[in-house]
Amino acid sequence: MPRVRLLPEEVVRRIAAGEVILRPASVVKELIENSIDAGAGRIKVEIKAGGKNFIRVSDDGWGMSRDDARLAVARYATSKLAAVDDLAKISTYGFRGEALAAIAAVSRMSIETNTDENGPGTRIEVEGGEIKEIAETVRARGTTVTVRMLFFNLPVRRGFLKSEGYESRLVIEVFRNYALAFPEIGFELISDDRPVLKLLPSDSLRERLKYLFEKKTVEGMVEFKVDNPLLTLHGFFDEPGQVKGYAEVQAVFFNRRPVRSQVVNRAVYEGYGLLPGSSNPNFVVFLTTDPCRLDVNIHPTKQEVRFADERYLFDFVAEAVRKGLGRGGVSFAGAETGVSQAMLAMPETGPGDFWQLHNSYILAEVASGYVIIDQHAAHERILFEQLLTEQKKAKPQGLLFPFTLELNAPEFEAYESICDKLARMGMETKSFSGRTVVIETVPSGSFLGRDELREFFAELPRISSERANIFQELAKLIACKGAVKAGQRLSREEMGALVNRLFACQEPYFCPHGRPVIIKITLAELERRFGRI
Ligand code: ADP
Ligand code: MG
Repeated sequence: MPRVRLLPEEVVRRIAAGEVILRPASVVKELIENSIDAGAGRIKVEIKAGGKNFIRVSDDGWGMSRDDARLAVARYATSKLAAVDDLAKISTYGFRGEALAAIAAVSRMSIETNTDENGPGTRIEVEGGEIKEIAETVRARGTTVTVRMLFFNLPVRRGFLKSEGYESRLVIEVFRNYALAFPEIGFELISDDRPVLKLLPSDSLRERLKYLFEKKTVEGMVEFKVDNPLLTLHGFFDEPGQVKGYAEVQAVFFNRRPVRSQVVNRAVYEGYGLLPGSSNPNFVVFLTTDPCRLDVNIHPTKQEVRFADERYLFDFVAEAVRKGLGRGGVSFAGAETGVSQAMLAMPETGPGDFWQLHNSYILAEVASGYVIIDQHAAHERILFEQLLTEQKKAKPQGLLFPFTLELNAPEFEAYESICDKLARMGMETKSFSGRTVVIETVPSGSFLGRDELREFFAELPRISSERANIFQELAKLIACKGAVKAGQRLSREEMGALVNRLFACQEPYFCPHGRPVIIKITLAELERRFGRI
């Protein structure tokens, strides 16, 4: 029997390091982030052989004391995270306290740092994770980290690195991204002793863009900013007429963190009305949101982030781009309401605590304030999702007295083409001689009476040509006609059921037509308006 053995500490460290440090560009990324976190005004990056042999990042930030520097190369030492609670609102780049230790474990690293130029600084030499020397040194305030011979102790990993040219392109991309996110910081890049870029601190993002990309590309871009209470989008985008097959830059930042986001990328294309592939617009997008809504802890390298409600993010970005480019079009009401499912706690109140306003709106308390719910729109949303998820296995609601309707020619033609689909959504029908249709069941939970059914059939010809989205369109129409109306009095139990089912929906904040369902007023806003704060 083979025995299970604990791996030696040193091996564990290297495995952990492998998650964060994949190649020279990852080292550069971590070191630049540390410099930014340390309040640097200038950052200089030097590489040799694409970073394989030599990487040095110097800053003029607040530096480290001797003890801090020693601790920083030990795993999980961080000055940026005090309690587990903080994980929810990370605003600095670092937080796991593993980057320096990970780099140290797989290279020959030296740190020179000083917190105050009037006093002595510290120099630490580390090799494969082991501290070899700690000494005093003379230097200005700030920190210089030098990383030599990356993966010297992991020959296979070192062998997997690509050509110098390729690795340096990746380094340059990282460098460029941070230079874009922080125009107010001066950045300098030197490769194999040759200056590549020198960017003076600037208060204009457009200026910085011009140094980093083709002047023509930048001049053809429009700048705009769109915000709502949850998200802000600011960015530069190709004019719709300028879009070419090849894009020089497509960069996305979330809270100034360069990220890869399929959701945002797709939303930008959607905003242009483009399918990814043939035409590729240049864009630089900065999204900002409260850090508590952004999960940056889903990937060791923090390049991927997750917004609390990705569907909302998509709609917001697509609509913002559409508007910003002056493309008008459908408006996404959710973008203005500032309410999103994930931002709302489940109502903690029982059915006894609801108010119905004007027989049309429901007032309910939630964790951080109160919400006003449009009862018709809410029920529409509930029915819509129910119809789409229950297709085929819908539980129809039998009618005591089936309705008989006389249809006109276009209505009947439309009806015939979709009657099987209606049945799958819980609306069972039969046709009789001529154009008479008998409706035997309606989808459960819907309020479809004779008048509503009449309206439903009148609109059928309009949607029956929608081949691709016929289910969706039918569900929208049934939901619209079958939802409780404004002006209808509801009992507390009905209100309770409606609100609970709404919060169980995937997208409770807007109805199938895109109008808002919920408006949220926070306690903070009430307090402000009553002059309490
Ligand atoms: P993290 O950034 O997640 O805290 P790191 O391993 O990257 O972890 O860094 C560990 C600690 O070392 C940081 O929390 C910070 O206190 C210190 N540090 C690292 N780089 C610098 C720097 N350039 N200037 C000042 N302090 C630094
Ligand atoms: Mg860090």
